[in-house]
Amino acid sequence: MSAVNGEDTAPATGERTGGGPVVDVTASRDAEVGGMRVRRALPQRARRTVGAWCFADHFGPTPADHSTRAGIGPHPHIGLHTVTWLVEGELVHRDSLGSEQPVRPGQVNLMTAGHGVSHAEEPVPGHRGALHGIQLWVAQPESTRHGAAAFEHYADLPVVELSGGAATVLVGTLAGVDSPSRGDTAMVGAELRTGTGSTAVPLDPAFEHALVVLDGAVEVGGATPSGHPVLPGRLCYLGLGRDHLELSGASTSLLLGGVPFESPVVMWWNFVGRSREEMTTAADDWNIAAPRFGTTVSSLTRIPAPTPPWRSGRRT
Ligand code: MN
Repeated sequence: MSAVNGEDTAPATGERTGGGPVVDVTASRDAEVGGMRVRRALPQRARRTVGAWCFADHFGPTPADHSTRAGIGPHPHIGLHTVTWLVEGELVHRDSLGSEQPVRPGQVNLMTAGHGVSHAEEPVPGHRGALHGIQLWVAQPESTRHGAAAFEHYADLPVVELSGGAATVLVGTLAGVDSPSRGDTAMVGAELRTGTGSTAVPLDPAFEHALVVLDGAVEVGGATPSGHPVLPGRLCYLGLGRDHLELSGASTSLLLGGVPFESPVVMWWNFVGRSREEMTTAADDWNIAAPRFGTTVSSLTRIPAPTPPWRSGRRT
């Protein structure tokens, strides 16, 4: 799932990297993807990336009896990894590499776009029940972003036991524990489950970090600035230079972090690159069904690329 619009591509202003620890809580933006309301924690106007993480859509939980055909038809990507993580429900991933892979809570689907890939996320036929999770993108560095597409699925991920909680390492490294998932830059993506007490999460001080709460509420350092816990629908940016994070309150959240990304990224629609020209070329290539994006077999409708806003003229 995906799709970044013009608002998301506005230049970042006042982005803070290179500083020390902070607790900066900002609201996610409501969007709609595949018939579902999502809370877009990344990108934000003032914060485009956290490490290499460049997109975070928290979706659901949908009502347990929902009959919406959640899902999104074939669409392309370049220059990023998609990371799909569910708290509840199930989705089926299909892509132009021929992959067909259900993903369930506790498992990771990780697709590498490189120079081009396409995929669809489909609901499971006959499945009725809540869907709840997060769709993430990781920007690929210059060294790999022009490379081949790939797909990985991991059903068994390492868990770091913490006092008062546990962390499942989806991508990268936490507390010296490595995920088997591909990561092209030094980073971490981990699901944190915390109880009502206090939990200390060991961090790499070379990383900047952020927290997206999926369920429950959490206080950072026991004293989030406003005195209020961080709730779903927020991005809690934590800055650089922390060797641990103190959390309190029962919650499920995603910890995102990494070495500040090597360069600014340009994001538009489903593409991550370094220039508008790359976006325009990718959109044209998708719309003429160029081989770089392959063919994704899906019962859902193929999604055409819109016209880039810089090309539409805006004459009136
Ligand atoms: Mn996608």
